[in-house]
Amino acid sequence: MKENEKDGIPFFQFEMFPANGRVQHAVFTRQGGVSLAPFASLNLSVSVADEKANVYQNRRRAYGVVGRDTDSVVHAHLVHDSEVAQVTQADNGTWLPHKDGIITDEPGCALTMNYADCAPIFLYDAAHCAIGLGHAGWQGSARDLPGAMVRAMTAAFGTDPAQLVAAVGPCIGPCCYEVGEVVIAAVRDAFADPETLLVGWSAHGRPHFDLPEANRRNLLRAGVAQVEMSGLCTACRTDLFFSHRAEKGKTGRFGAILMLK
Ligand SMILES: [Zn+2]
Repeated sequence: MKENEKDGIPFFQFEMFPANGRVQHAVFTRQGGVSLAPFASLNLSVSVADEKANVYQNRRRAYGVVGRDTDSVVHAHLVHDSEVAQVTQADNGTWLPHKDGIITDEPGCALTMNYADCAPIFLYDAAHCAIGLGHAGWQGSARDLPGAMVRAMTAAFGTDPAQLVAAVGPCIGPCCYEVGEVVIAAVRDAFADPETLLVGWSAHGRPHFDLPEANRRNLLRAGVAQVEMSGLCTACRTDLFFSHRAEKGKTGRFGAILMLK
């Protein structure tokens, strides 16, 4: 990923996503907003105990980077599942219920989601000018939300998975993500080679889950050939991102946006 900045708002962009004028994207950080600790400063979620006025101001700042505001982007209520919705500009300013994946091929449509350790999933189909944005933590990964997004794009737009450009954004890495029996069992059920995703076992018998790699494998299994990884761990980099795990739940949510011009 490369770092960028506009109007005092820092953001990251994937190298593989083309600057062709048809697709725009940004992964925001926690910097550049007005919220106070523990939500300092660019918290984009009202689902945490931040001042709502500050969240709205932060949304104007963040979405303003790509010329939008909260009423001209499509939001989603994230539930750690694998349901995917196709949207149009008519969905701008609304919050889709119970969806962790959103896809569109409508010019002018902008998709956004919030994160604090779960992985942002970005998909771009240049041939059909279509995009998808997703949210996958261990549950979304075990339920194959990334694969469900690819299949939804194929069904809706005729997307060839092999032609997709995909990216996995900043999320909690295997360095920081110790997990217990529930996650171990889910990973063993969901993946063909689960022990390579359960690494760095501690002396007290707990492994670390490699969430970004699990999401990459979901994408590869769905036929995607090109996947860019952010390489950034949200729990290691609480200077840059909010981390639910590292900050013991007392934190905000950073945003990502993906849109068609
Ligand atoms: Zn880490």
